[in-house]
Amino acid sequence: MREAWDAIVIGAGLGGLTAAAYLVKAGLRVLVLDRNPHIGGTAYVYHRKGFVFPMGPLGFSHLDLVQNTLKDLGVGEDLRFTRVHYQIRALGLDLVLSLPFTDLVKEFSKFFPADAGAVEQFFKHMDDWISKSKPDQGHDISASDYLHNLIKDRRLRRILGSIGTREPYSGLPLLAAMWNLMGHEGIWFPYEGMQAFSERFARAAIGNKEKRSEIRLNQEVAKIRVDQGKASGVVLMDGVQISSSSVISNADYKTAFLKLLDPKTIPPDWHEAVSSARQTDSVFQVCLGVDTSKADLSAFRKASRLIYRRHGENNQERESLNWNVQEIDPGALASQELEVSLWGRNWEMVSPGGRASLVIRAEAEYNHFAKYRLGWRQRSPNYQEYKRRLAHALIREIAHLVPGLEKAIVVMDVATPLTFEDQGGRSGGAVAGWSWDYENFRDDQPKELIGTPIKGLYMAGYQAFSALFMGGIPTAIESGKRAARAVLQGMGPLQEILIPGVK
Ligand SMILES: Cc1cc2nc3c(=O)[nH]c(=O)nc-3n(C[C@H](O)[C@H](O)[C@H](O)COP(=O)(O)OP(=O)(O)OC[C@H]3O[C@@H](n4cnc5c(N)ncnc54)[C@H](O)[C@@H]3O)c2cc1C
Repeated sequence: MREAWDAIVIGAGLGGLTAAAYLVKAGLRVLVLDRNPHIGGTAYVYHRKGFVFPMGPLGFSHLDLVQNTLKDLGVGEDLRFTRVHYQIRALGLDLVLSLPFTDLVKEFSKFFPADAGAVEQFFKHMDDWISKSKPDQGHDISASDYLHNLIKDRRLRRILGSIGTREPYSGLPLLAAMWNLMGHEGIWFPYEGMQAFSERFARAAIGNKEKRSEIRLNQEVAKIRVDQGKASGVVLMDGVQISSSSVISNADYKTAFLKLLDPKTIPPDWHEAVSSARQTDSVFQVCLGVDTSKADLSAFRKASRLIYRRHGENNQERESLNWNVQEIDPGALASQELEVSLWGRNWEMVSPGGRASLVIRAEAEYNHFAKYRLGWRQRSPNYQEYKRRLAHALIREIAHLVPGLEKAIVVMDVATPLTFEDQGGRSGGAVAGWSWDYENFRDDQPKELIGTPIKGLYMAGYQAFSALFMGGIPTAIESGKRAARAVLQGMGPLQEILIPGVK
């Protein structure tokens, strides 16, 4: 007889595990399947010579939501968190950014006295958006146009408009949400490390002593079965069929709708909407295990996260890289904005023996790296050498910030968008999927995308809302909670298409 469960969850990322945990709490028998040999999806951490490196998140926002969820599920009440501080070391500035707005007004006014009044007005406007007093103006104006009218200094426009060194790219509601996280709510990190979340949610998902629920790893779902418009289970890669009238996909929308579902089972307009939805870029990441006796880490005295760019002050300098070439110039990648994190120091869980883990990231385009992809976790021969050259250029650049770095490296690990796709399990390795379609995002009320046009099929994860309103981790957790509720209430199917970009 075919194996049957009350609910099947495809994917053991944070969204999937949270959904499973709530369903188990409600008494259901739940099967979680993940194609990876580990839980956590993008929030997974991996080990190299005793160091622990991140596959994705380096921090999270909405501490209250995360803590309340852990408490609700009866796991993780013992977890402790620390605030992550940000500092900009670029465009001639050296300034901590994770400060209350009143302090930021003072600090920015010192650097840009001619724009002091405008800075005050900017943060007042951000406050209005955050407090939802719904300013009359600003719904349709881009951050770029708004700042052009307000601020004289180009460098200041870039910092205020991107919380970094880029030209402003979003609408005002998203910019206000980002400053709110930076200045007010804070970005946080669990002392135990990022894996604490997936471990705790997995514990809750396995449930009580009878172990009526299960997490199975190395189990890739090949198809979601749909009979007469209703989800009826899944088919694994080896052809094994498992039945359930409730399926939650923690695999992202592109994977679920374009790979796991038979196109005949999806309304054509949904198929079209998911196919054409834009995804954000990915990152190129260098993780380093560092001997602290050989490198000068004083740059991290005030903040563990640095937004760094040695060049980029002149208008003539190239704003962004052209990725449409066979190989990019490693030096050009290194001259872009880099995020440098002291991820663990004197933290036995992350860097053993008082050593430190450094993470260097640069924005990167998936399509540029896609040509090296031969299949799942398979790459063409020159891929390793190319990514090593890019990594060394970033390390050389960061040695200006961290003297002695090159000689202090104990271990190096390099990830590209292909790594975030295969190891993390997200289409195109996209950091924020479509949920941060910032050019189209003008709404401060993201739509929930948990429901689907197929009865019994629900979505959980970072793409289960039309916008990334809380950051990846809390969004995934919140979506899991709501997906479980949708299953328990038998909600759906959904008719209205809320996928971003659909007019
Ligand atoms: C580089 C990077 C940096 C980030 N930084 C931050 C940050 O600082 N703060 C923050 O809050 N968020 C950050 N995020 C986002 C955050 O990590 C994610 O939003 C969150 O972890 C996603 O959880 P999820 O539930 O959507 O699932 P995912 O982590 O995407 O997991 C989906 C799971 O589904 C599995 N799966 C997919 N297809 C199948 C299949 N066919 N069969 C079986 N299993 C399948 C995958 O193996 C994976 O385990 C970052 C993401 C990236 C990529």
